[in-house]
Amino acid sequence: MIDRSALGAFDMPSRFRRVRGALARQGVAGLIVTDPPSVRWLTGFTGSNGLLFVDAESAILITDGRYGDQAPQELAAAGVDAEVRVTNAPVDELTSLVCGREVAVEADHLTWAEHRSYATAFGTAPVAFDTALVALRAVKDGGELDRVRAAAAITDAALAEVVGTLAASTEREVALALDHLVRTFGASGNAYETIVASGPNAALPHARPTDRRLGRGDLVIIDVGSLYDGYRSDMTRTFVIGEASEEHQRWLDVVLDAQRAGVAAARPGVATRDVDAACREVIAAAGWADAFNHGAGHGVGLDIHERPRVSSRTDDVLEAGMLVTVEPGVYFAGSGGVRWEDLHLVTATGLEALTHSPKDPLA
Ligand code: ZN
Ligand code: ZN
Repeated sequence: MIDRSALGAFDMPSRFRRVRGALARQGVAGLIVTDPPSVRWLTGFTGSNGLLFVDAESAILITDGRYGDQAPQELAAAGVDAEVRVTNAPVDELTSLVCGREVAVEADHLTWAEHRSYATAFGTAPVAFDTALVALRAVKDGGELDRVRAAAAITDAALAEVVGTLAASTEREVALALDHLVRTFGASGNAYETIVASGPNAALPHARPTDRRLGRGDLVIIDVGSLYDGYRSDMTRTFVIGEASEEHQRWLDVVLDAQRAGVAAARPGVATRDVDAACREVIAAAGWADAFNHGAGHGVGLDIHERPRVSSRTDDVLEAGMLVTVEPGVYFAGSGGVRWEDLHLVTATGLEALTHSPKDPLA
């Protein structure tokens, strides 16, 4: 259902410009990139073992013999002008590239043992890169947006297929059907472990599917996303089996109002904590402030949780071209819960939803 030939190209030169700009601002000679999604973002390399060294002039991917053919092919396909070095001694290779200069590492993506071995081999300890690559990844290019849109469309199609089967199924059966369908429709996998949480299980925001059979009157939270060419989507719908009780209908309505308030508050230049607060105010006004026990959203891309973070505890600010979920929920222990989540593109004027499944809870 996805036309691969219609997917746009990635803007690789802009990514290297962002990294080299940050290197120059910090005044370090080079950066060792160790987080696999960031290595992929800069080079197109999808293997499990790759280190990227970037300085002002060059970029060198260091990998092992398993990827001796794959790495040059992927870099060429991505249009990246970087050298590939295949070795079983990556620290020796890095040492010759660093050549006594002061270089930075990704502090969140390096073990203590790796840092020690770099310090010993280089003769001088690497410093922490003061720009998180995940922050540089926050604004997406056209090629990235095409892939996230594809992942979202696949998920919408898969969910539409299972809605009619909910009443007769267990949580695990629904999750398995969704996982099978997203692959059938072209995804390479799930964006994360599918959540199907019914009845009292819906009170757990990150419940795992069980053998519980969906029963009349249950609320069912389904949180599902697809992985398409490395990029992810994220969406949650809440369904009611049969008829909603008055209380459940009120949860559904209030959380939907909260989501609308969050979406209405979002546009470039707005602090994400204000989006979080807009969601939270609606739920607090209903008297359920304590029942909304997670942040209101997050960025999505090569990872499922990226910048910007949407919570009361962040200074992130929305920019056009970012992707962001808005996903308020309420959870009542022993009783159940509701969450509505959509993935959006931040446009010049507000948010454009990329997930389009109907919000019609009756199943
Ligand atoms: Zn989700
Ligand atoms: Zn999410």
